[in-house]
Amino acid sequence: MKCGEPAPAIEGLCGLCIKDEHAFDFARSALLFTRTLREIIHHLKYSDRVSLAKPLGDILKECMEREPFTGNLIIPVPLHPSRERERGFNQAELLATRLGRPVATRLLRRRKNTQSQTGLSRNQRKRNLAAAFETRGEVKGTVIVVDDVYTTGSTMDEIARTLKRAGAERVEVLTVARVANDIYRLDATAAVAGVSRTQ
Ligand SMILES: [Zn+2]
Repeated sequence: MKCGEPAPAIEGLCGLCIKDEHAFDFARSALLFTRTLREIIHHLKYSDRVSLAKPLGDILKECMEREPFTGNLIIPVPLHPSRERERGFNQAELLATRLGRPVATRLLRRRKNTQSQTGLSRNQRKRNLAAAFETRGEVKGTVIVVDDVYTTGSTMDEIARTLKRAGAERVEVLTVARVANDIYRLDATAAVAGVSRTQ
């Protein structure tokens, strides 16, 4: 499956992949977003535990090397400048610099300080994110967009659309954690099986 949605035994279960509605070309995550991982990432983002970027970045690198990623330019998902000032760093950028490939930190910018996407429908999310990002300069070839968590894919789709308008041919997505579709979270066995699929 294009987006890497963990779907044990049922190929092509993600509706967006079936309808070919993802704007990005390929997405994989190193780990499923478990409660423990959520705490670890929360510490990284909100408790200034920037040292956590090292082990998480290493896990991310391992995933990048194992999966068929072909991009050679890494683009961390940008925070809105005001949020980055507040936090003092961008966690996606910290993770990106661990990957051993060139990182472009100024190519993509977040123009809108978007509201939380939680509880929004797919269309509402799309509206919320419309024109949220802009590029500075031309983008070439294949790029890898990096973030801590992949939730619904809406943000990544919007970023991919933005990068492709600026010239990117292929947009690959790499995140530490993947929030699995609810139907897997309800089924512990499937969730465990899903780990081996996404990893
Ligand atoms: Zn999908």
